[in-house]
Amino acid sequence: MTTSAHFRSNLRDIFFNLFEVLDIGASSLGKGPFQSMDADTAREALVGIEEFAQQYFAPGFVEGDRVPLQFDGKGNVKLPPSFVRALNGYYEGGWNKLELPEHLGGYGAPPSVSWASFEILAAANAAVTFYLLGNFLAKVIDNLATDEQKKRYVPNILEHHWGGTMVLTEPDAGSDVGAGLTRAKHVAGDEYLLEGVKRFITNGDFDQPKNIVHLVLARPEGAGPGTKGLSMFIVPKYWVEADGSLGERNGAVVTQVEHKMGIKGSSTCELTLGADAPCRGLLVGNVHQGIAQMFHVIEYARMGVGTKSIGTLSTAYLNALAYTKERKQGADLTRAADKTAPRVEIIRHPDVRRMLMLQKSFVEGLRAMALWTAQLQDTVAIQGGHDAVEAKQADALNDLLLPLIKGYSSEKVYELLSLSLQCFGGSGYIQDYPIEQYIRDQKIDSLYEGTTHIQAQDLFFRKVARDRGQTLQGLLGRIKATVDAIGDTTELQVEKAALGKALGDVSAIFMTMLGKVAQSVYHAGFQGNRILFALAELVIGWRLTVQAQIALAKVGAAVGDDRAFYQGKLASARFFARQILPGIAMHRQLIEQGDLELMDVPDEAF
Ligand SMILES: Cc1cc2nc3c(=O)[nH]c(=O)nc-3n(C[C@H](O)[C@H](O)[C@H](O)COP(=O)(O)OP(=O)(O)OC[C@H]3O[C@@H](n4cnc5c(N)ncnc54)[C@H](O)[C@@H]3O)c2cc1C
Repeated sequence: MTTSAHFRSNLRDIFFNLFEVLDIGASSLGKGPFQSMDADTAREALVGIEEFAQQYFAPGFVEGDRVPLQFDGKGNVKLPPSFVRALNGYYEGGWNKLELPEHLGGYGAPPSVSWASFEILAAANAAVTFYLLGNFLAKVIDNLATDEQKKRYVPNILEHHWGGTMVLTEPDAGSDVGAGLTRAKHVAGDEYLLEGVKRFITNGDFDQPKNIVHLVLARPEGAGPGTKGLSMFIVPKYWVEADGSLGERNGAVVTQVEHKMGIKGSSTCELTLGADAPCRGLLVGNVHQGIAQMFHVIEYARMGVGTKSIGTLSTAYLNALAYTKERKQGADLTRAADKTAPRVEIIRHPDVRRMLMLQKSFVEGLRAMALWTAQLQDTVAIQGGHDAVEAKQADALNDLLLPLIKGYSSEKVYELLSLSLQCFGGSGYIQDYPIEQYIRDQKIDSLYEGTTHIQAQDLFFRKVARDRGQTLQGLLGRIKATVDAIGDTTELQVEKAALGKALGDVSAIFMTMLGKVAQSVYHAGFQGNRILFALAELVIGWRLTVQAQIALAKVGAAVGDDRAFYQGKLASARFFARQILPGIAMHRQLIEQGDLELMDVPDEAF
């Protein structure tokens, strides 16, 4: 195997999720904005995406890592040839149309299908996948901008495949986005002049598209402090005239490209606004609602980061699995003392099987959680979108789950990738195999789009405490319904008991913490990540149990690969219920006994 051919996808499990568990053929396809897509078309699209990802995205995986991006010092970044080929192939093949709504010339796939597609692309080559953000920004602009702004930008982005960025971070405004200093001075109408320095901007410049659209947060003169004082601007690399034609170079210029640990093919840029030339921008929608508007992009990016993590673990696990079925080393443990015993494939060793099952059960569980959330996004759209009263419940649940998908997947996958590598022994550490690059490319996921603790704060304060636990109770109620519905005679008694116990532990964790924060909010600071992890593990355990119910019903009649697949689903759920869910009791114990002692340790004593 070469590292260029690194990518192994799991379309079987994706199809199991979409069509056997979530039944999107009945729940999403053919409904509301997804009128014209049926199950066959969705399947064909995903088969096509998988082939495309193998042929166009995977081959650049190594080149993106080993051939540095070229920065000319004048604001221009040149991509390696395999990346240009991948991006051109994507647009020429019309794959960008999958996630676009019909009124923008797209195929109108629901989020469940487009996130499945995203997982495949990101697993094949995450760095290339990021360059596709412009396509999504067209949807955001179409949603939020004035008619005039839409006319100027949406057709241009879609027809000419312009790039896109989200521009929040500054040297002194990272997690604290509201500390941003970039200023915006009103010129006339919706036009402003921006000045400031942004950093760590993904796609800040790249040479495949003719233009790049930056969505920038900046503070208009006279606006208040914090995130509330920020507005969002469309800032193009080349100015776009009112008739849509390209104007002169705008003063948004990349002044540095970062040298990173991983995803090296993704250009991470310092973007200087208005230093040597005026930087013109348009106030999006001509309203000052910057942070709320930017959240349309942030939520997409958070789901994208979690999905990237899941795709990476999926391909890493399948690589490790293949290796452990070929590599022979040592005798079966029961004959370890017998020098004449045949050498066995390492998959026969209990410890290797343990490592494999940890990867398998988690990747299936994480994918199950993410695609179920994606289906909630389908529901939100079918019920009229974010602002519709009917969609409120599904929307709130989606919001509650996003920090789990982003925060938990990114942390857990980084941890589990070290087991993927461990399965290879020393070979995993060298670049003949892709795992060491997966690990380097993965680490970023727990950092950008809000670090893990920012996700934990979001979960506890914004998604649970703010609505007095109502949405959380709704989620826990669904899990309880599953526990109650498992009869006393099925084979899933251990799963039922483990899930019921974990449900009780998680409910107790939230009750305890609500009491503790009344004493000191530091408690939520200390325990926030643990709370996020406990809830994520409960949701994953639940989704795996739901999958096990379906697998159990089908395994008896299944033959060949299908039979092995359903047996594998049952094995994942069983392992998770026995080895992972009981750990939630430990989370509970540590949270209950948590104190504030660390705050009293003098800084000098650390
Ligand atoms: C490769 C890469 C690509 C990126 N792409 C983009 C992009 O396209 N657009 C963009 O705008 N930004 C981008 N970023 C920026 C990224 O979102 C920030 O790096 C991230 O939000 C963290 O900010 P920071 O680096 O300033 O870390 P800091 O905010 O300084 O955080 C440092 C540590 O302190 C902790 N911390 C900070 N504040 C708190 C708090 N209040 N309570 C508890 N703990 C806290 C953090 O959790 C973290 O562990 C990118 C970054 C990288 C590295």
